[in-house]
Amino acid sequence: MLIEHLNRQLRERAEQALTRNRRTAASPCAPQQRVARDGQPAREMLAFCSNDYLGLANHPALTAALAEGAQRFGAGSGASHLVSGHSLAHARLEAELAAWMAPNIPNARALYFCTGYMANMALAPALAAQGATIFADRLNHASLVDGALLSKATLQRYAHRNLVVLERQLSSCDSAIKLIVTDAVFSMDGDLADLPAMLALAEKYDAWLVVDDAHGFGVLGAQGRGSLAQFGLCSERLIYMGTLGKAAGVAGAFIAAHPTIVEWLVQTARPYIYTTAAPPAIAHAVSASLLVLASEDGTQRRAHLAHLVALLRRQLTLLMDAHPSLGWSLADSHTAIQPLIVGDNAAALVLSAALERQGLWVPAIRPPTVPVGTARLRITLSASHSVHDVLRLVHGLAMAAQDMHV
Ligand SMILES: *Cc1c(COP(=O)(O)O)cnc(C)c1O
Repeated sequence: MLIEHLNRQLRERAEQALTRNRRTAASPCAPQQRVARDGQPAREMLAFCSNDYLGLANHPALTAALAEGAQRFGAGSGASHLVSGHSLAHARLEAELAAWMAPNIPNARALYFCTGYMANMALAPALAAQGATIFADRLNHASLVDGALLSKATLQRYAHRNLVVLERQLSSCDSAIKLIVTDAVFSMDGDLADLPAMLALAEKYDAWLVVDDAHGFGVLGAQGRGSLAQFGLCSERLIYMGTLGKAAGVAGAFIAAHPTIVEWLVQTARPYIYTTAAPPAIAHAVSASLLVLASEDGTQRRAHLAHLVALLRRQLTLLMDAHPSLGWSLADSHTAIQPLIVGDNAAALVLSAALERQGLWVPAIRPPTVPVGTARLRITLSASHSVHDVLRLVHGLAMAAQDMHV
C-alpha cells in the first residue's frame, strides 16, 4: 500500500519534470570536475553549480589543516558537545568567530554547529516560544522556514523584500517577542535583503533581526566578514548565522549573538544538544579558512569573482537582447548567484540538458525550491573560474538559444 502510493507519487513528479537526480563527482569540488550520472562513466564537466564561491574547498592550506587536525584530534569527536565531544579545536574556532563578528555584534559569543540547517532548526524553536511572532521573507531558505514551523511561534510571511508589508505586520503585532528572520543573500535569486532598513524596523518595533548569511559569509564585506560588515551594521539586536561549507570551503555553521542568547542555545537548543559534535579536524580546517579569507589571497579571490560576475551579466544581457523571444531574464543580483530565469520546468530541464551535452554543468532549479513558473538555471560563479570558463558558458547558452529558437 505504502509502496504503491509512493510509486504513484513518484510517477506524478516525473510527469511534471520534477524528478531530481544526483550526479556523482569523482574529483574534488572545482570548475573542472569529473562527474557521472546514473551508472554512466564519469566525464569531465565545466561546473557552474557549487557554492564554493572562493574556490577554497580544495585549497591546499585547508586540506593540509584538515589532515593535521585529524592527526592531532583524531577522526571523530566521540560525543555531543555537552557530554565530552567539545574539543580545543571547537573552542578555539568559536573564539575566533566571536572576534570576527565583534565589530557588528557587541560582545558577541559564537556557537559552532554541524550544519547551517541544524543551526536554523535550533534558533527559532529556542528563542520563539508560544506567544512569540516570527516575520519571514517568502523566499527565505527552507531551513529558516522549517525552523519557524518547528517553533511554537506564530509565523507571518511577507512578500519578497516587501518592507511595507513587514512594517504593517510588526506594527499590528502585540507579541512580547518578535523575530524578523531573513536570508542576507537569497539563495536562489542572489539578491540582498535591505538589512539596514530591516534593522531600523527591528529597533522601532523592539524586534530581533536574525540574518542567515550562508551566501554572504566569506564573500561580502572587507576580508569577507559578511553582510553585516558590508552594510556597516552594529547592534545587539542582530542574531547572525553564518555557514562554513560554502565560501569558507569546509563544513558547519555558527550562530553569533548576545552572550545570553548563545548561552540559552547551549542550554536548550535540541539540534545543538542531541547530536554528536562535528569532528574537531573540521573546526581546525575552518580556522585555517578564516586566515585565508582575511589574507591577501582572499582579497584577490573576491576581486576576481566580482570581475567574473560583471562579465557574465554583460554577456548574458547581450545574448538575451539577441533572443528576446526566449523570454529569459536575469535576476537583480550582483553576487556570485546568477540565476537565468526560464519559467517553465521542462524548458529549464531542456536547457540544462543542452548545456550538459556541451560539457557544461548548470543545474535546473524547479519548484518547490523556487516559486511555480520561475524555473531557472542557477548559475554560480567561483573565484576558481577563469574568464575563459565564463565565455565558454556564454557560448554554450548561445548555441542552446539558437537550437531552441527554431
Ligand atoms: C545552504 C544554506 C543553509 C544550510 O547550510 P548548510 O551548512 O549547508 O546546512 C542555510 N541557509 C541558507 C540560506 C543556505 O543557502
